[in-house]
Amino acid sequence: MSQQGYVAAPPYSQSQTGIGGFSSGFGPPNSSLHYGHYGDPNSSCSAPEPGVPKSTVPFGSSASVGPPPPGTHQFSQTNSQNGPSTPEQQPHRFQGPPPPCNSRLSYPPYSHRSQPAYPNTTSTSSTTQLANKLDSMQINSYGPGTAPSLLTSSGHPASFQGPQLSPPPAQQQVALPPGSQVPPPANNLNGLCAQPSLPPIARQDGIPGPVSPNPNLQQLSAHSSGPGYHPQQSNYGPQMAGSQLSYPGAFSGGPAQLSGPQQKKLDPDSIPSPIQVIENDKASRGGQIYATNTRGQVPPLVTTDCIIHDQGHASPRYIRCTTYCFPLSSDMAKQARIPLAAVIQPFAVVPPNETPLYVVSHGETGPIRCNRCKAYMCPFMQFIEGGRRYQCGFCNCVNDVPPFFFQHLDHVGQRVDRYERPELSLGSYEYVATLDYCRNNKPPKPPAYIFMIDVSYRNIKSGLVKLLCDELKTLLDKLPREEQEESSAIQVGFVTYNKVLHFFNVKSSLAQPQMMVVSDVGEVFVPLLDGFLVNFQDSRSVVINLLDQIPEMFADTNESETIFVPVIQAGMEALKAAECAGKLFIFHSSLPTAEAPGKLRNRDDKKLLNTDKEKTLFQPQVNSYEPLARDCVANGCCVNLFLFPNQYVDIASMGLVTLYTGGTLYKYNNFQLDADSPRFLSDLRKDIEKKTGFDAIMRVRTSTGFRATDFFGAIYMNNTTDVEMAAVDCDKAVTVEFKHDDKLNEDSGALIQFAVLYTSISGQRRLRIHNIGLNCSSQLADVFKSCETDVLINFFAKSAFKAILSQPLKMVREMLMNHTAHMLACYRKNCASPSAVSQLILPDAMKVLPMYMNCLSKSCVLVGRPEIPTDERAYHRQLVTSMGVADTQLFFYPQLLPVHSLDLKSDAIPAAVRCSEERLSEGGAFLLANGLIMFLWLGVNVPPELIQGLFNVPSFAHISTEATSLPDLDNPYSKKFKSVLKHIQSQKPYAMKFMIVKQREQPEMLFRQFLVEDKSIYGGASYVDFLCCVHKEICQLLN
Ligand SMILES: [Zn+2]
Repeated sequence: MSQQGYVAAPPYSQSQTGIGGFSSGFGPPNSSLHYGHYGDPNSSCSAPEPGVPKSTVPFGSSASVGPPPPGTHQFSQTNSQNGPSTPEQQPHRFQGPPPPCNSRLSYPPYSHRSQPAYPNTTSTSSTTQLANKLDSMQINSYGPGTAPSLLTSSGHPASFQGPQLSPPPAQQQVALPPGSQVPPPANNLNGLCAQPSLPPIARQDGIPGPVSPNPNLQQLSAHSSGPGYHPQQSNYGPQMAGSQLSYPGAFSGGPAQLSGPQQKKLDPDSIPSPIQVIENDKASRGGQIYATNTRGQVPPLVTTDCIIHDQGHASPRYIRCTTYCFPLSSDMAKQARIPLAAVIQPFAVVPPNETPLYVVSHGETGPIRCNRCKAYMCPFMQFIEGGRRYQCGFCNCVNDVPPFFFQHLDHVGQRVDRYERPELSLGSYEYVATLDYCRNNKPPKPPAYIFMIDVSYRNIKSGLVKLLCDELKTLLDKLPREEQEESSAIQVGFVTYNKVLHFFNVKSSLAQPQMMVVSDVGEVFVPLLDGFLVNFQDSRSVVINLLDQIPEMFADTNESETIFVPVIQAGMEALKAAECAGKLFIFHSSLPTAEAPGKLRNRDDKKLLNTDKEKTLFQPQVNSYEPLARDCVANGCCVNLFLFPNQYVDIASMGLVTLYTGGTLYKYNNFQLDADSPRFLSDLRKDIEKKTGFDAIMRVRTSTGFRATDFFGAIYMNNTTDVEMAAVDCDKAVTVEFKHDDKLNEDSGALIQFAVLYTSISGQRRLRIHNIGLNCSSQLADVFKSCETDVLINFFAKSAFKAILSQPLKMVREMLMNHTAHMLACYRKNCASPSAVSQLILPDAMKVLPMYMNCLSKSCVLVGRPEIPTDERAYHRQLVTSMGVADTQLFFYPQLLPVHSLDLKSDAIPAAVRCSEERLSEGGAFLLANGLIMFLWLGVNVPPELIQGLFNVPSFAHISTEATSLPDLDNPYSKKFKSVLKHIQSQKPYAMKFMIVKQREQPEMLFRQFLVEDKSIYGGASYVDFLCCVHKEICQLLN
């Protein structure tokens, strides 16, 4: 075997030149490499000498490998300095969120719930209180998508004008009828708007129908000082820091009190329903062909199934925008407060009935680009002068058409060959890149996957290591490959570790794998090059042999301490040495407390919650993680992290490299082999098989007048323009915010081009181009009409989750609330037809924005409560940061399906119901899913035949809630239910954890957190409460 080592690049703490571009290379070739330290060869460590012997020993015996002079690091599996660690000895227990059987959970007492009764809430809830207000409200609806049942309760027919696209734009109005009285406020509506000392004030306004604006404003003034309105809310505008608004920062936790007489129950259908919006869009656009041939058209919702034809603009599977019509000027944009953003998912999966991307190759010439702004040839280029020149749609520069690309124009000035060339007629396509686009002008090598397994006591004991090794034996046959290739070009390598690292030589010519130990984890190096990264097919027998041996090799380990940063470093160094990009798959269980760079301590501190220091919990605790992430990105090293914690592991620190390198974080709390293996293995299989772009860099180009200013995602930015991703897979999305720097032009619109340069799974350098054109308008109504709420929520979530690194959570929540009110107030002021002051008017495209904003505001990331584990919050924060629009939609508004009403004869999935306790029934069974977790909730009177069909037990009492899956039974209920589960799980990035919840049993509390329209057990406002508060703020803003 090879005796050569290599000299690595400078230590990760040093900055590297050329990061971000492709001028930096993978380092020098390794032919004359030295065996030595990771680091400067001239450092205090003795300079490495070529040919220093490195011992290689067969399995089972001690390996002695190390940098000179020591060279004698002994590997001994039983040589633990720390003794065995048992879970019972762990000082900090992992707290959740927790399986129902976990008795250590600190839920609020069950009896605290203010609405225990099914199926109806009691009249003492805040919902009912507010309901009294809204109950008598008039709801006027204009435009499409409005349920015709929305009639006034006071006997006036609602103005229902039917579908109408011209101004006044579609909008929904919620209004108080004439003479209605606002009841006194609840003493405590989540701590918000609570002004119990104020007497109830009779409503003086409320003239239905159009009235003159001025009286409205006066009436609004009266309104806003009415009961329940916070008198101090005067500080609006960008500086929210000084706002006295108390919502929703104050979480009372206790039940709201009803001070008035018992009143009528709210008809929940009187407030905008997200389900209605989803179903309406499905009904009007589902199953149809959506052609992207028109600039600025709003696509079907993410929840609507349709077939997309690319006809010049990128499919909404790749790009969605907060609005498809930008305001003309920066002043107008500031007035509207609508964030101008696009969510790009460059490698999104397209269904088989849609066309995959065409690949364009211009040979050695490479892609055609604008001389000035470097935009790539696309449908936005305008050919002139008989086809000899073209004007760039982005910067207006006039360029010569290269001779080989010349084509005549037809009578309307279009190239006659435009439909034969993807780059002239499609929104999305790929270019084969030339050597100019490669590092060091050298063609890239196929990427590599390195499996790095924590073999400390916990992972061995839990059976995880054996499970993983067994799975890899078959999984490695499924590495991704190009369709035309017979086998995958991806190389594989293996490392195990606890306090030290073990590298394995699995060269095909070996009879047995060989292990090399690196115990100098302070300055990690890679002890072998040849034989570490191999083609699985070539080295199959050696690799299988290794995977058979690993669990046995460490079976008796007592080592409980682990390292972490040196593991990533080692993987990155191995990729660097092999001059290829790749992914590390790290399987890790505990806080890395062993003495090594990146060592962590348990710094979780509940006392920091709701203080200015809470933000530190989301920042890495030591500074070695960020430079490591930067080095990984610079070397195309993506880090996938599979965590198996049973206590705090500091995800804010450990997950950082994963986040910055475009990797995925998976977490399995209190991993139990039987219960959690299927989910873990499903995640692992899916991740390994995913289509991924490696060593990627994205550039966003825009037409004149605006530019990309902020970027959110699993990305790394070394400068303000290059979005670097060590890898980007089909589920990762980047959210890009745009700002004006000049006036836009209504004729030319707002054009955006996303260009992603990457290395394919076969090692080809490619450019993936996505283009989209948006409209521009001087009319605010056009801007509001073209909004997409799901995209707005994606933007607000990512932006809020980023803001918590620097601002107190309370302020972030207030900003969300304020922002919502500002947008809606702007609409009301500028776009809505004159109406009674008491009306809450919502633009049709933002009808359910307040609902989603409330869900975001009370998500566990933004709510500091001792019951919610810090790691869980950091985990959700990280996941959401890279989510696409469909994933955030489901995450913030879970799908709740009445499975007791499954139509056994049809393939259809039952329509979802609103996420509220009111929708549950004692005789029903409901499935709730949010993309991470799935509950099957069973009412106490669920029909026995359904119980028998799903569980194969005779009655409700016999159902075990311990099960993490349902048996496969040969009956129509079971088969239908399983097909629904499969459908819900399909196309989701994570295998959802499955839990069974029985009505009126303790674990129901966990389930109820996901009923997002209700008041949360942690004090988050109900939808109705939030809506009322938004209304009040709007009134004040208009005042
Ligand atoms: Zn240009």
